[in-house]
Amino acid sequence: MNIILLGPPGAGKGTVAKLLTEYDGSVQISTGDMLRQAVKEGTPLGKEAKSYMERGDLVPDTLIMRIMEERLAQPDCKKGFILDGFPRTIPQAEALKGLLERMGIRLDMVVNLDVPREVILERLTTRRTCSDPNCQEIYNVKSSPPNPDGTCKKCGSLTVQRDDETEEAINFRLATYLEKTAPLISYYEKEGILKTFLSLSSKETVEEIKKALHRKS
Ligand code: AMP
Repeated sequence: MNIILLGPPGAGKGTVAKLLTEYDGSVQISTGDMLRQAVKEGTPLGKEAKSYMERGDLVPDTLIMRIMEERLAQPDCKKGFILDGFPRTIPQAEALKGLLERMGIRLDMVVNLDVPREVILERLTTRRTCSDPNCQEIYNVKSSPPNPDGTCKKCGSLTVQRDDETEEAINFRLATYLEKTAPLISYYEKEGILKTFLSLSSKETVEEIKKALHRKS
């Protein structure tokens, strides 16, 4: 299956995507993960993307389309893909449409994860990430905390708040979402492939998505 996951930062797109890949072997394609990896490795792409990401702003569309064209051409995408964090703007959605048409690929569903703002803020501000670039284990200070001294349970390095998970950056990311990404909801509604799920628990949401996909096939 070929799916797009839409939703604000902190909606649980990454978790839902991972669970869906276990379901049918599709690959998860997260532009956020790809960009973070590029920043970590200090590649030219990473150097260009870094400052946008740190302040919670979107990386330019042209740069994103370059990495997505390359990624979607890779053979593992033939198994199906789950796009997590892409497209984020109308121009990206238009470019994706042209790209998929050229490749002869059809989208099965656009899943819109709807999560109340308070839940999002709570999730994002309580998240901590291991500072060791080779570990990057994710914790939540309330539901799944690191060691009492703030170190990682896996590798012992200090856990930190990501630069884009400070309150200031989160507010900026949410405003950016509303301005640039939320218009994609009506874009895909018009295309007739959008389905919205109220998502408080990723596991339950994945079960709902599976049922909806069954009904379609
Ligand atoms: P994410 O992990 O999906 O929240 O992405 C982290 C950051 O990477 C975002 O705040 C943006 O700076 C950048 N990013 C990820 N995906 C995109 C995209 N499709 N378009 C533009 N910027 C993106």
